[in-house]
Amino acid sequence: MTSADLHRDLRRGVRDLCKGFPDTYWRELDAARAYPDAFVRALTEAGYLAALIPEAYGGSGLGVTEASIILEEINRSGGNAGACHAQMYTMGTLLRHGSDVQKRTFLPQLAGGALRLQAFGVTEPTTGSDTTQLKTTATRKGDRYVIRGQKVWISRAEHSDLLLLVVRTTPIEQVKKRTDGLSVLLVDLRTAVGHGLTIRPIRTMMNHATTELFFDDLEVPTDTLVGEEGEGFRYLIDGLNAERILIAAECIGDGRWFVDRATRYASGRVVFNRPIGQNQGVQFPIARAHVNVEAADLMRFRAAELFDRGAPCGAEANMAKLLAADASWEAANVAVQTHGGFGFAEEYDIERKFRETRLYQVAPISTNLILAYVAEHVLGLPRSY
Ligand SMILES: Cc1cc2nc3c(=O)[nH]c(=O)nc-3n(C[C@H](O)[C@H](O)[C@H](O)COP(=O)(O)OP(=O)(O)OC[C@H]3O[C@@H](n4cnc5c(N)ncnc54)[C@H](O)[C@@H]3O)c2cc1C
Repeated sequence: MTSADLHRDLRRGVRDLCKGFPDTYWRELDAARAYPDAFVRALTEAGYLAALIPEAYGGSGLGVTEASIILEEINRSGGNAGACHAQMYTMGTLLRHGSDVQKRTFLPQLAGGALRLQAFGVTEPTTGSDTTQLKTTATRKGDRYVIRGQKVWISRAEHSDLLLLVVRTTPIEQVKKRTDGLSVLLVDLRTAVGHGLTIRPIRTMMNHATTELFFDDLEVPTDTLVGEEGEGFRYLIDGLNAERILIAAECIGDGRWFVDRATRYASGRVVFNRPIGQNQGVQFPIARAHVNVEAADLMRFRAAELFDRGAPCGAEANMAKLLAADASWEAANVAVQTHGGFGFAEEYDIERKFRETRLYQVAPISTNLILAYVAEHVLGLPRSY
């Protein structure tokens, strides 16, 4: 099978699955701020969430390119891959840096759906984008780590069995580089909650199941360590490129959904005895949004192709995320404007998707931080922070 055939079949398969979860499904969950359990279960049972898990562990052994197509199609269908995308990008850290025992223990269960790895804990309330300054510590005590600290915006923690947690294992004053001394732990949430870990949901403008985590001397076995102690920042950076590419693909899916809906509405809505889409003032913004989504898509596939070849792709992954998030946000605005008053009505879903796609200007990395990366690492300008 050629990769074009594979991609076509993947798109078709995900689209068909998504037909079982129409606008009304997402709208009702949004109103209740409820987790799309049935959707995530269906996606898992169909094997899509195991796309990146090697066949030897029960997955399909596909690349980030294919994973990105799966997430794109979910958003393109009007759904929200944000409910489950972390399982795709956290997987890489476990795959590349986990021990054989960890991989044998967890990957088949993740592939089969017996376990969920949907939570990724990096951000903290007092340090934000300045990751190396994070304050949550894990201190060795015999064969245990004792974890103290706080995380914020940790999404899906209430709907996940495992959490990939970034902590400081060596105090920042004792390391040569501030990127040293961070470690990644694979925490079993099922045993942690109530024994030193408290999860507090945060209600947000969209349905994202995000939370705050409080660690009060949570003890976990030292074999929860992924890779080497103190090397966590390196593992984090590895995974972040995959995350940027996958989120870019979700934005492309959103962008195409907005352009479709705007086009459809502009063709059917008649005011002043003509379809509103006959007016250049209405059609040009839609056409421009389409152009920008398609341009961003080229950078997304360029970044994905580099990633899957194992080539450096930091610049392309960051640029893809920026271009795609900007394009989906522009398309979202255009869709609201095209729909006039109905753009604000819940039953049209435009306002829901508008709220959902707005997130990607800020998370998982804000636009400014991407520009700072490009300025420093691509253009060689002085570091600004
Ligand atoms: C709904 C939601 C879900 C999330 N899910 C997760 C998750 O699952 N796991 C996780 O770890 N995190 C998650 N995050 C956190 C997200 O990654 C952060 O919000 C994001 O990285 C920005 O960090 P911050 O909110 O602390 O903003 P800050 O770092 O405080 O920044 C605030 C603003 O200042 C700007 N800024 C800061 N420093 C500079 C600078 N030097 N130059 C220019 N501009 C600057 C930023 O661009 C931003 O616009 C989530 C966030 C949200 C809102």
